[in-house]
Amino acid sequence: MLQTDVLVIGAGAVGTAITRELAKYDLDVLCVDKNEDVGGDCSKSNSAIIHTGYDAAPGTLESQLVVAANPMYDQLTKDLDIPFERIGAILPALNEEQFEKLPSIKEKAFKNRVYDIEYRTKEQLLAMEPELSPEVLGGLYIPRESIIDPFLLVVAMAENAVMNGARFLLSTEVIGMEKENGKVTVVHTTAGDIQAKYVVNAAGLHCDDIAEMVGKNDYYVNPRKGQFYILDNNTSCKVNHIVLPIPTKLTKGKLMCPTIHGNMLVGPTAEDLTDKTDKAITAEGLASIKADVEKLIPGVQLRDTITQYAGLRANRNPEGLNIDVYDDIANYVNLSGVRSTGLTASVSIGTYVVEMLKSIGLALTFKENFITKRRGIPLFRELSRAEQDELIRENPLYGNIVCRCETVTEGQIVDAIHSVIPARSMDAIKRRVRAGMGRCQGGFCGPKVIEIIARELGVDAESVCKRNKEAYMIASKVK
Ligand SMILES: Cc1cc2nc3c(=O)[nH]c(=O)nc-3n(C[C@H](O)[C@H](O)[C@H](O)COP(=O)(O)OP(=O)(O)OC[C@H]3O[C@@H](n4cnc5c(N)ncnc54)[C@H](O)[C@@H]3O)c2cc1C
Repeated sequence: MLQTDVLVIGAGAVGTAITRELAKYDLDVLCVDKNEDVGGDCSKSNSAIIHTGYDAAPGTLESQLVVAANPMYDQLTKDLDIPFERIGAILPALNEEQFEKLPSIKEKAFKNRVYDIEYRTKEQLLAMEPELSPEVLGGLYIPRESIIDPFLLVVAMAENAVMNGARFLLSTEVIGMEKENGKVTVVHTTAGDIQAKYVVNAAGLHCDDIAEMVGKNDYYVNPRKGQFYILDNNTSCKVNHIVLPIPTKLTKGKLMCPTIHGNMLVGPTAEDLTDKTDKAITAEGLASIKADVEKLIPGVQLRDTITQYAGLRANRNPEGLNIDVYDDIANYVNLSGVRSTGLTASVSIGTYVVEMLKSIGLALTFKENFITKRRGIPLFRELSRAEQDELIRENPLYGNIVCRCETVTEGQIVDAIHSVIPARSMDAIKRRVRAGMGRCQGGFCGPKVIEIIARELGVDAESVCKRNKEAYMIASKVK
Protein backbone atom coordinates (compact mmCIF):
# COMPACT_ATOMS: atom_id res chain seq x y z
CA MET A 1 0.00 0.00 0.00
CA LEU A 2 1.27 3.51 -0.88
CA GLN A 3 2.10 5.56 2.19
CA THR A 4 2.61 9.27 2.63
CA ASP A 5 2.66 12.00 5.26
CA VAL A 6 0.13 14.21 3.47
CA LEU A 7 -2.22 13.21 0.68
CA VAL A 8 -3.71 16.09 -1.34
CA ILE A 9 -6.76 15.20 -3.43
CA GLY A 10 -6.95 17.34 -6.58
CA ALA A 11 -4.19 18.77 -8.79
CA GLY A 12 -5.91 22.00 -9.82
CA ALA A 13 -4.52 25.40 -8.87
CA VAL A 14 -5.50 24.88 -5.24
CA GLY A 15 -4.19 21.32 -4.82
CA THR A 16 -0.88 22.07 -6.55
CA ALA A 17 -0.36 25.25 -4.50
CA ILE A 18 -0.92 23.26 -1.30
CA THR A 19 1.41 20.50 -2.52
CA ARG A 20 4.15 23.00 -3.38
CA GLU A 21 3.81 24.74 -0.04
CA LEU A 22 4.07 21.40 1.78
CA ALA A 23 7.17 20.57 -0.29
CA LYS A 24 8.96 23.37 1.59
CA TYR A 25 9.07 21.09 4.64
CA ASP A 26 10.66 17.74 5.42
CA LEU A 27 7.59 15.72 4.52
CA ASP A 28 6.50 13.09 2.05
CA VAL A 29 3.71 14.68 0.01
CA LEU A 30 1.52 12.96 -2.56
CA CYS A 31 -1.08 14.66 -4.76
CA VAL A 32 -3.60 12.54 -6.67
CA ASP A 33 -5.90 13.53 -9.48
CA LYS A 34 -8.40 11.66 -11.62
CA ASN A 35 -7.17 13.54 -14.73
CA GLU A 36 -4.21 12.48 -16.87
CA ASP A 37 -2.41 15.77 -16.23
CA VAL A 38 -2.09 18.40 -13.56
CA GLY A 39 -4.09 21.54 -14.27
CA GLY A 40 -7.44 20.81 -12.69
CA ASP A 41 -10.84 21.23 -14.22
CA CYS A 42 -11.93 24.75 -13.30
CA SER A 43 -8.32 25.97 -13.16
CA LYS A 44 -7.94 25.55 -16.91
CA SER A 45 -11.19 27.25 -17.93
CA ASN A 46 -11.52 30.66 -16.32
CA SER A 47 -10.85 34.35 -17.00
CA ALA A 48 -7.18 34.03 -15.95
CA ILE A 49 -7.31 37.19 -13.84
CA ILE A 50 -5.32 37.64 -10.66
CA HIS A 51 -7.81 39.65 -8.67
CA THR A 52 -7.11 42.22 -5.98
CA GLY A 53 -10.21 41.26 -3.99
CA TYR A 54 -11.66 44.79 -4.27
CA ASP A 55 -15.17 43.41 -4.71
CA ALA A 56 -15.09 40.42 -2.32
CA ALA A 57 -17.60 40.32 0.53
CA PRO A 58 -15.72 42.17 3.29
CA GLY A 59 -14.80 40.16 6.36
CA THR A 60 -14.99 36.77 4.63
CA LEU A 61 -12.25 34.18 4.35
CA GLU A 62 -12.40 34.66 0.57
CA SER A 63 -11.67 38.39 0.95
CA GLN A 64 -8.80 37.65 3.34
CA LEU A 65 -7.20 35.08 1.03
CA VAL A 66 -7.67 36.88 -2.29
CA VAL A 67 -6.36 40.18 -0.91
CA ALA A 68 -3.36 38.36 0.58
CA ALA A 69 -2.68 36.43 -2.62
CA ASN A 70 -2.45 39.29 -5.13
CA PRO A 71 0.94 40.69 -4.01
CA MET A 72 2.40 37.17 -3.84
CA TYR A 73 2.35 36.90 -7.63
CA ASP A 74 5.22 39.35 -8.32
CA GLN A 75 7.81 37.07 -6.76
CA LEU A 76 6.11 33.74 -7.50
CA THR A 77 5.83 34.37 -11.24
CA LYS A 78 9.49 35.48 -11.37
CA ASP A 79 10.66 32.44 -9.41
CA LEU A 80 8.63 29.96 -11.43
CA ASP A 81 8.91 31.62 -14.86
CA ILE A 82 5.18 32.18 -15.40
CA PRO A 83 3.85 34.82 -17.83
CA PHE A 84 2.11 37.51 -15.70
CA GLU A 85 1.22 41.16 -16.31
CA ARG A 86 -0.27 43.84 -14.10
CA ILE A 87 -2.42 45.42 -16.79
CA GLY A 88 -5.10 46.83 -14.45
CA ALA A 89 -8.88 46.83 -14.68
CA ILE A 90 -11.38 49.56 -15.41
CA LEU A 91 -15.06 49.71 -14.43
CA PRO A 92 -16.77 52.24 -16.67
CA ALA A 93 -20.20 53.59 -15.69
CA LEU A 94 -22.41 53.82 -18.76
CA ASN A 95 -25.40 55.61 -17.21
CA GLU A 96 -26.35 57.71 -14.18
CA GLU A 97 -27.53 54.72 -12.18
CA GLN A 98 -24.17 52.98 -12.65
CA PHE A 99 -22.27 56.21 -12.00
CA GLU A 100 -23.97 56.55 -8.62
CA LYS A 101 -22.70 53.10 -7.65
CA LEU A 102 -19.02 54.05 -8.01
CA PRO A 103 -18.56 55.43 -4.46
CA SER A 104 -20.05 52.28 -2.90
CA ILE A 105 -17.76 50.05 -5.00
CA LYS A 106 -14.81 52.12 -3.78
CA GLU A 107 -16.00 51.90 -0.17
CA LYS A 108 -16.26 48.12 -0.48
CA ALA A 109 -12.73 48.00 -1.88
CA PHE A 110 -11.52 50.01 1.13
CA LYS A 111 -13.27 47.58 3.49
CA ASN A 112 -11.24 44.86 1.76
CA ARG A 113 -8.10 46.98 2.26
CA VAL A 114 -7.69 47.52 -1.46
CA TYR A 115 -6.78 51.19 -1.34
CA ASP A 116 -5.29 51.61 -4.82
CA ILE A 117 -8.63 52.03 -6.57
CA GLU A 118 -9.08 55.40 -8.24
CA TYR A 119 -11.71 57.44 -10.02
CA ARG A 120 -11.09 58.22 -13.71
CA THR A 121 -12.98 60.76 -15.83
CA LYS A 122 -14.68 59.99 -19.13
CA GLU A 123 -11.76 61.57 -21.02
CA GLN A 124 -9.16 59.63 -19.06
CA LEU A 125 -10.98 56.34 -19.59
CA LEU A 126 -11.37 56.94 -23.32
CA ALA A 127 -7.66 57.75 -23.56
CA MET A 128 -6.84 54.52 -21.71
CA GLU A 129 -9.32 52.45 -23.73
CA PRO A 130 -10.22 54.02 -27.10
CA GLU A 131 -12.68 51.21 -27.95
CA LEU A 132 -14.79 51.94 -24.87
CA SER A 133 -18.41 53.05 -25.42
CA PRO A 134 -18.54 56.84 -25.92
CA GLU A 135 -21.49 56.82 -23.52
CA VAL A 136 -19.11 56.29 -20.59
CA LEU A 137 -19.57 58.90 -17.85
CA GLY A 138 -16.55 58.04 -15.70
CA GLY A 139 -15.37 55.01 -13.80
CA LEU A 140 -12.91 53.27 -11.52
CA TYR A 141 -9.38 52.09 -12.20
CA ILE A 142 -7.84 49.18 -10.24
CA PRO A 143 -4.17 48.96 -11.29
CA ARG A 144 -3.25 45.68 -9.58
CA GLU A 145 -5.87 43.53 -11.33
CA SER A 146 -3.59 41.33 -13.45
CA ILE A 147 -3.51 38.60 -16.06
CA ILE A 148 -1.60 35.33 -15.96
CA ASP A 149 -1.12 32.14 -17.95
CA PRO A 150 -3.40 29.91 -15.83
CA PHE A 151 -2.12 26.67 -17.37
CA LEU A 152 1.51 27.47 -16.70
CA LEU A 153 0.70 28.67 -13.17
CA VAL A 154 -0.50 25.19 -12.23
CA VAL A 155 2.15 23.31 -14.23
CA ALA A 156 4.91 25.48 -12.74
CA MET A 157 3.72 25.04 -9.14
CA ALA A 158 3.41 21.28 -9.68
CA GLU A 159 6.83 20.99 -11.32
CA ASN A 160 8.44 23.03 -8.55
CA ALA A 161 6.78 20.75 -5.97
CA VAL A 162 8.22 17.69 -7.77
CA MET A 163 11.67 19.34 -7.96
CA ASN A 164 11.42 19.48 -4.17
CA GLY A 165 10.43 15.87 -3.66
CA ALA A 166 6.62 15.87 -3.88
CA ARG A 167 4.91 13.19 -5.96
CA PHE A 168 1.91 13.35 -8.30
CA LEU A 169 -0.19 10.31 -9.05
CA LEU A 170 -2.35 11.09 -12.07
CA SER A 171 -5.25 9.21 -13.69
CA THR A 172 -6.06 8.19 -10.13
CA GLU A 173 -9.55 8.79 -8.81
CA VAL A 174 -10.35 8.75 -5.11
CA ILE A 175 -13.36 6.46 -4.75
CA GLY A 176 -13.71 6.01 -1.00
CA MET A 177 -12.19 6.56 2.42
CA GLU A 178 -12.14 4.57 5.62
CA LYS A 179 -12.23 6.06 9.09
CA GLU A 180 -11.29 4.51 12.39
CA ASN A 181 -11.05 6.07 15.85
CA GLY A 182 -11.73 9.55 14.50
CA LYS A 183 -9.11 9.44 11.74
CA VAL A 184 -9.03 8.74 8.04
CA THR A 185 -7.06 5.50 7.85
CA VAL A 186 -7.18 4.43 4.21
CA VAL A 187 -8.00 6.26 0.98
CA HIS A 188 -9.28 3.99 -1.78
CA THR A 189 -8.35 5.02 -5.32
CA THR A 190 -8.62 3.50 -8.77
CA ALA A 191 -4.85 2.90 -8.56
CA GLY A 192 -4.97 1.14 -5.18
CA ASP A 193 -5.17 2.08 -1.52
CA ILE A 194 -3.18 4.91 0.07
CA GLN A 195 -2.36 5.33 3.74
CA ALA A 196 -1.81 8.96 4.69
CA LYS A 197 -1.12 10.60 8.02
CA TYR A 198 -3.09 13.64 6.83
CA VAL A 199 -5.59 14.09 4.00
CA VAL A 200 -6.54 17.35 2.26
CA ASN A 201 -9.65 17.58 0.10
CA ALA A 202 -8.98 20.05 -2.76
CA ALA A 203 -11.27 18.39 -5.28
CA GLY A 204 -12.99 21.55 -6.55
CA LEU A 205 -16.40 20.82 -8.05
CA HIS A 206 -16.28 17.35 -6.49
CA CYS A 207 -15.22 18.40 -3.00
CA ASP A 208 -18.70 17.52 -1.73
CA ASP A 209 -18.37 13.96 -3.09
CA ILE A 210 -15.06 13.58 -1.24
CA ALA A 211 -16.52 15.16 1.95
CA GLU A 212 -19.38 12.69 1.81
CA MET A 213 -16.85 9.84 1.90
CA VAL A 214 -15.91 10.94 5.43
CA GLY A 215 -19.48 11.74 6.44
CA LYS A 216 -19.20 15.52 6.11
CA ASN A 217 -22.08 16.07 3.75
CA ASP A 218 -23.42 19.26 5.35
CA TYR A 219 -23.15 21.15 2.05
CA TYR A 220 -23.41 20.43 -1.63
CA VAL A 221 -21.83 21.93 -4.73
CA ASN A 222 -23.57 22.85 -7.93
CA PRO A 223 -21.78 23.93 -11.09
CA ARG A 224 -22.11 27.58 -12.17
CA LYS A 225 -21.19 27.59 -15.83
CA GLY A 226 -19.25 30.39 -17.49
CA GLN A 227 -19.01 30.47 -21.29
CA PHE A 228 -16.40 32.51 -23.16
CA TYR A 229 -15.35 33.60 -26.62
CA ILE A 230 -11.63 33.69 -27.52
CA LEU A 231 -10.79 36.05 -30.36
CA ASP A 232 -7.90 35.86 -32.78
CA ASN A 233 -4.71 37.76 -32.01
CA ASN A 234 -5.32 39.84 -35.14
CA THR A 235 -8.80 41.06 -34.25
CA SER A 236 -9.11 44.77 -35.06
CA CYS A 237 -10.88 45.80 -31.85
CA LYS A 238 -8.67 45.27 -28.82
CA VAL A 239 -8.59 46.45 -25.23
CA ASN A 240 -5.51 47.07 -23.09
CA HIS A 241 -7.09 46.55 -19.67
CA ILE A 242 -9.58 44.22 -18.07
CA VAL A 243 -12.81 46.02 -18.91
CA LEU A 244 -15.52 45.11 -16.43
CA PRO A 245 -19.14 46.20 -16.19
CA ILE A 246 -20.52 47.73 -13.01
CA PRO A 247 -21.73 44.64 -11.12
CA THR A 248 -25.38 44.05 -10.32
CA LYS A 249 -26.74 42.29 -7.22
CA LEU A 250 -26.86 39.05 -9.21
CA THR A 251 -23.61 38.97 -11.17
CA LYS A 252 -20.18 40.49 -11.69
CA GLY A 253 -21.12 40.59 -15.35
CA LYS A 254 -19.25 39.92 -18.55
CA LEU A 255 -15.85 41.40 -19.32
CA MET A 256 -13.44 41.85 -22.16
CA CYS A 257 -9.71 41.61 -21.59
CA PRO A 258 -6.51 40.56 -23.30
CA THR A 259 -5.06 37.17 -22.45
CA ILE A 260 -1.40 37.06 -21.53
CA HIS A 261 -0.66 35.76 -25.05
CA GLY A 262 -2.50 38.58 -26.84
CA ASN A 263 -5.91 37.10 -27.69
CA MET A 264 -9.09 38.87 -26.59
CA LEU A 265 -11.22 37.07 -24.00
CA VAL A 266 -14.94 37.89 -23.90
CA GLY A 267 -17.39 36.53 -21.29
CA PRO A 268 -18.27 34.72 -19.04
CA THR A 269 -21.90 33.82 -18.42
CA ALA A 270 -23.04 32.70 -14.96
CA GLU A 271 -25.55 29.84 -15.23
CA ASP A 272 -26.51 27.68 -12.26
CA LEU A 273 -26.76 24.02 -13.25
CA THR A 274 -27.05 20.63 -11.59
CA ASP A 275 -25.05 18.49 -14.06
CA LYS A 276 -21.35 18.60 -13.13
CA THR A 277 -20.36 17.53 -16.64
CA ASP A 278 -22.32 20.14 -18.62
CA LYS A 279 -19.69 22.29 -20.33
CA ALA A 280 -21.78 22.77 -23.47
CA ILE A 281 -21.53 26.05 -25.35
CA THR A 282 -25.03 27.33 -26.07
CA ALA A 283 -26.47 29.82 -28.54
CA GLU A 284 -28.27 31.59 -25.65
CA GLY A 285 -25.08 31.87 -23.64
CA LEU A 286 -23.11 33.33 -26.54
CA ALA A 287 -25.93 35.71 -27.44
CA SER A 288 -26.04 37.04 -23.88
CA ILE A 289 -22.26 37.69 -23.95
CA LYS A 290 -22.60 39.56 -27.23
CA ALA A 291 -25.48 41.69 -25.96
CA ASP A 292 -23.73 42.62 -22.71
CA VAL A 293 -20.18 43.17 -23.96
CA GLU A 294 -21.27 45.27 -26.95
CA LYS A 295 -22.65 47.79 -24.43
CA LEU A 296 -19.12 48.26 -23.06
CA ILE A 297 -17.10 47.78 -26.26
CA PRO A 298 -19.42 48.45 -29.21
CA GLY A 299 -16.82 47.51 -31.83
CA VAL A 300 -15.98 44.05 -30.44
CA GLN A 301 -15.49 41.70 -33.40
CA LEU A 302 -17.01 38.40 -32.29
CA ARG A 303 -16.70 37.09 -35.85
CA ASP A 304 -12.94 36.87 -35.11
CA THR A 305 -13.67 34.05 -32.66
CA ILE A 306 -11.18 31.19 -32.85
CA THR A 307 -12.87 29.09 -30.19
CA GLN A 308 -15.34 29.14 -27.33
CA TYR A 309 -15.07 27.31 -24.03
CA ALA A 310 -16.90 26.92 -20.75
CA GLY A 311 -15.76 26.44 -17.17
CA LEU A 312 -17.75 25.25 -14.16
CA ARG A 313 -17.43 27.24 -10.94
CA ALA A 314 -17.82 25.15 -7.79
CA ASN A 315 -20.78 26.95 -6.20
CA ARG A 316 -21.15 25.84 -2.59
CA ASN A 317 -24.60 25.62 -1.00
CA PRO A 318 -24.68 27.29 1.50
CA GLU A 319 -22.33 29.78 -0.17
CA GLY A 320 -18.82 30.78 0.81
CA LEU A 321 -15.19 29.70 0.76
CA ASN A 322 -14.64 27.33 3.69
CA ILE A 323 -11.49 25.60 4.91
CA ASP A 324 -12.50 23.26 7.72
CA VAL A 325 -10.93 20.91 10.21
CA TYR A 326 -13.14 18.77 12.44
CA ASP A 327 -13.06 17.58 16.07
CA ASP A 328 -14.21 14.11 14.99
CA ILE A 329 -11.71 13.60 12.11
CA ALA A 330 -8.32 14.47 13.48
CA ASN A 331 -6.28 14.24 10.27
CA TYR A 332 -8.47 15.76 7.58
CA VAL A 333 -8.77 19.26 6.02
CA ASN A 334 -11.78 20.05 3.85
CA LEU A 335 -11.84 22.88 1.29
CA SER A 336 -15.15 23.91 -0.24
CA GLY A 337 -16.65 26.86 -2.09
CA VAL A 338 -13.43 27.77 -3.93
CA ARG A 339 -15.61 29.32 -6.59
CA SER A 340 -14.85 32.45 -8.60
CA THR A 341 -11.49 33.63 -7.29
CA GLY A 342 -9.69 30.37 -6.62
CA LEU A 343 -7.03 30.80 -9.28
CA THR A 344 -5.90 33.96 -7.49
CA ALA A 345 -6.37 32.63 -3.98
CA SER A 346 -4.67 29.29 -4.66
CA VAL A 347 -1.27 30.54 -3.46
CA SER A 348 -2.51 31.99 -0.17
CA ILE A 349 -4.80 28.98 0.31
CA GLY A 350 -1.60 26.92 0.04
CA THR A 351 0.05 28.69 2.95
CA TYR A 352 -3.21 28.83 4.95
CA VAL A 353 -3.84 25.09 4.63
CA VAL A 354 -0.30 24.29 5.78
CA GLU A 355 -0.95 26.36 8.93
CA MET A 356 -4.22 24.48 9.46
CA LEU A 357 -2.41 21.16 9.11
CA LYS A 358 0.08 22.41 11.70
CA SER A 359 -2.81 23.31 14.01
CA ILE A 360 -4.03 19.70 13.89
CA GLY A 361 -0.60 18.26 14.64
CA LEU A 362 1.45 18.07 11.44
CA ALA A 363 5.09 18.58 12.42
CA LEU A 364 6.76 21.11 10.13
CA THR A 365 10.52 21.36 9.70
CA PHE A 366 11.79 23.67 6.95
CA LYS A 367 13.77 21.98 4.20
CA GLU A 368 17.24 23.50 4.10
CA ASN A 369 17.55 22.84 0.38
CA PHE A 370 14.19 23.97 -1.00
CA ILE A 371 14.63 24.93 -4.67
CA THR A 372 12.73 28.18 -5.30
CA LYS A 373 13.47 28.66 -8.99
CA ARG A 374 11.99 26.76 -11.90
CA ARG A 375 12.68 27.49 -15.57
CA GLY A 376 9.91 26.90 -18.09
CA ILE A 377 10.15 25.78 -21.71
CA PRO A 378 11.14 28.82 -23.81
CA LEU A 379 8.24 30.47 -25.67
CA PHE A 380 10.03 30.48 -29.03
CA ARG A 381 7.64 33.03 -30.55
CA GLU A 382 8.47 35.61 -27.91
CA LEU A 383 12.28 35.35 -28.20
CA SER A 384 14.53 37.68 -30.15
CA ARG A 385 16.09 36.44 -33.42
CA ALA A 386 19.42 36.05 -31.69
CA GLU A 387 17.88 33.98 -28.87
CA GLN A 388 16.02 31.83 -31.40
CA ASP A 389 19.26 31.21 -33.36
CA GLU A 390 21.03 30.26 -30.16
CA LEU A 391 18.31 27.74 -29.25
CA ILE A 392 18.38 26.20 -32.74
CA ARG A 393 22.15 25.83 -32.56
CA GLU A 394 21.81 24.04 -29.22
CA ASN A 395 18.91 21.86 -30.37
CA PRO A 396 18.01 21.74 -34.10
CA LEU A 397 14.47 20.58 -33.22
CA TYR A 398 13.87 24.23 -32.29
CA GLY A 399 14.29 25.01 -35.99
CA ASN A 400 11.24 22.99 -36.99
CA ILE A 401 7.97 24.93 -36.64
CA VAL A 402 5.10 22.53 -35.93
CA CYS A 403 2.29 24.90 -34.95
CA ARG A 404 2.25 27.71 -37.47
CA CYS A 405 -0.41 29.83 -35.77
CA GLU A 406 1.52 30.12 -32.50
CA THR A 407 5.04 29.47 -33.87
CA VAL A 408 5.62 26.42 -31.69
CA THR A 409 8.65 24.30 -32.50
CA GLU A 410 9.25 20.57 -32.34
CA GLY A 411 11.90 21.30 -29.70
CA GLN A 412 9.30 22.82 -27.36
CA ILE A 413 6.92 19.89 -27.84
CA VAL A 414 9.66 17.32 -27.21
CA ASP A 415 10.79 19.25 -24.12
CA ALA A 416 7.19 19.25 -22.82
CA ILE A 417 6.91 15.48 -23.33
CA HIS A 418 10.09 14.95 -21.30
CA SER A 419 9.48 17.66 -18.71
CA VAL A 420 9.32 17.24 -14.93
CA ILE A 421 5.64 16.28 -15.20
CA PRO A 422 5.59 14.72 -18.66
CA ALA A 423 2.94 15.95 -21.12
CA ARG A 424 1.39 12.80 -22.58
CA SER A 425 -1.82 14.11 -24.14
CA MET A 426 -2.63 16.70 -26.81
CA ASP A 427 -4.14 19.03 -24.21
CA ALA A 428 -1.14 18.66 -21.92
CA ILE A 429 1.12 19.76 -24.80
CA LYS A 430 -1.25 22.60 -25.68
CA ARG A 431 -1.29 23.92 -22.13
CA ARG A 432 2.49 23.87 -21.80
CA VAL A 433 3.66 25.21 -25.18
CA ARG A 434 0.46 26.43 -26.97
CA ALA A 435 0.53 24.05 -29.96
CA GLY A 436 -3.10 24.07 -31.14
CA MET A 437 -4.08 27.26 -29.28
CA GLY A 438 -4.10 29.48 -32.37
CA ARG A 439 -6.46 30.32 -35.17
CA CYS A 440 -6.65 26.80 -36.66
CA GLN A 441 -7.08 25.20 -33.21
CA GLY A 442 -4.80 22.31 -34.07
CA GLY A 443 -6.22 21.63 -37.54
CA PHE A 444 -2.73 21.80 -39.08
CA CYS A 445 -0.42 20.83 -36.25
CA GLY A 446 -2.65 18.23 -34.57
CA PRO A 447 -1.55 15.20 -36.67
CA LYS A 448 2.10 16.23 -36.34
CA VAL A 449 1.76 16.57 -32.55
CA ILE A 450 0.18 13.09 -32.37
CA GLU A 451 3.17 11.71 -34.33
CA ILE A 452 5.68 13.40 -32.03
CA ILE A 453 3.96 12.18 -28.85
CA ALA A 454 3.78 8.62 -30.24
CA ARG A 455 7.45 8.71 -31.31
CA GLU A 456 8.76 10.15 -28.06
CA LEU A 457 6.71 7.86 -25.81
CA GLY A 458 7.20 4.80 -28.02
CA VAL A 459 3.45 4.17 -28.33
CA ASP A 460 1.02 3.73 -31.26
CA ALA A 461 -0.48 6.94 -32.62
CA GLU A 462 -3.92 5.37 -32.02
CA SER A 463 -3.32 5.43 -28.28
CA VAL A 464 -2.63 9.18 -28.13
CA CYS A 465 -5.52 11.00 -26.46
CA LYS A 466 -6.77 14.56 -26.43
CA ARG A 467 -6.99 14.40 -22.64
CA ASN A 468 -8.18 11.56 -20.40
CA LYS A 469 -8.08 7.99 -21.68
CA GLU A 470 -11.49 7.97 -23.33
CA ALA A 471 -10.75 10.92 -25.64
CA TYR A 472 -8.82 9.24 -28.48
CA MET A 473 -7.65 11.37 -31.40
CA ILE A 474 -7.66 8.54 -33.95
CA ALA A 475 -10.74 6.29 -34.05
CA SER A 476 -9.31 3.56 -36.31
CA LYS A 477 -7.08 2.91 -39.33
CA VAL A 478 -8.78 3.45 -42.68
CA LYS A 479 -6.01 1.85 -44.76
C1 LIG B 1 -15.98 31.04 -15.85
C2 LIG B 1 -14.97 31.13 -14.76
C3 LIG B 1 -14.16 32.26 -14.62
C4 LIG B 1 -13.26 32.34 -13.57
N1 LIG B 1 -12.38 33.38 -13.53
C5 LIG B 1 -11.45 33.44 -12.55
C6 LIG B 1 -10.49 34.47 -12.53
O1 LIG B 1 -10.40 35.28 -13.45
N2 LIG B 1 -9.64 34.54 -11.50
C7 LIG B 1 -9.67 33.65 -10.47
O2 LIG B 1 -8.90 33.80 -9.52
N3 LIG B 1 -10.53 32.62 -10.49
C8 LIG B 1 -11.42 32.48 -11.51
N4 LIG B 1 -12.30 31.45 -11.56
C9 LIG B 1 -12.30 30.49 -10.46
C10 LIG B 1 -11.12 29.53 -10.51
O3 LIG B 1 -10.93 29.02 -11.81
C11 LIG B 1 -11.38 28.38 -9.52
O4 LIG B 1 -11.78 28.90 -8.28
C12 LIG B 1 -10.14 27.54 -9.32
O5 LIG B 1 -9.61 27.15 -10.55
C13 LIG B 1 -10.48 26.34 -8.49
O6 LIG B 1 -9.33 25.53 -8.42
P1 LIG B 1 -9.43 24.10 -7.78
O7 LIG B 1 -8.06 23.55 -7.74
O8 LIG B 1 -10.19 24.19 -6.50
O9 LIG B 1 -10.39 23.27 -8.73
P2 LIG B 1 -10.07 22.45 -10.07
O10 LIG B 1 -9.18 23.18 -10.98
O11 LIG B 1 -11.39 22.05 -10.64
O12 LIG B 1 -9.28 21.18 -9.56
C14 LIG B 1 -9.91 20.17 -8.82
C15 LIG B 1 -9.25 18.88 -9.19
O13 LIG B 1 -9.76 17.84 -8.37
C16 LIG B 1 -9.79 16.65 -9.13
N5 LIG B 1 -10.72 15.70 -8.54
C17 LIG B 1 -12.04 15.86 -8.32
N6 LIG B 1 -12.56 14.74 -7.78
C18 LIG B 1 -11.53 13.85 -7.66
C19 LIG B 1 -11.45 12.52 -7.19
N7 LIG B 1 -12.52 11.85 -6.71
N8 LIG B 1 -10.25 11.89 -7.22
C20 LIG B 1 -9.14 12.53 -7.72
N9 LIG B 1 -9.19 13.80 -8.18
C21 LIG B 1 -10.36 14.45 -8.15
C22 LIG B 1 -10.25 17.13 -10.51
O14 LIG B 1 -9.90 16.19 -11.51
C23 LIG B 1 -9.53 18.45 -10.64
O15 LIG B 1 -8.32 18.29 -11.33
C24 LIG B 1 -13.18 31.30 -12.61
C25 LIG B 1 -13.97 30.16 -12.78
C26 LIG B 1 -14.83 30.06 -13.87
C27 LIG B 1 -15.57 28.80 -14.10
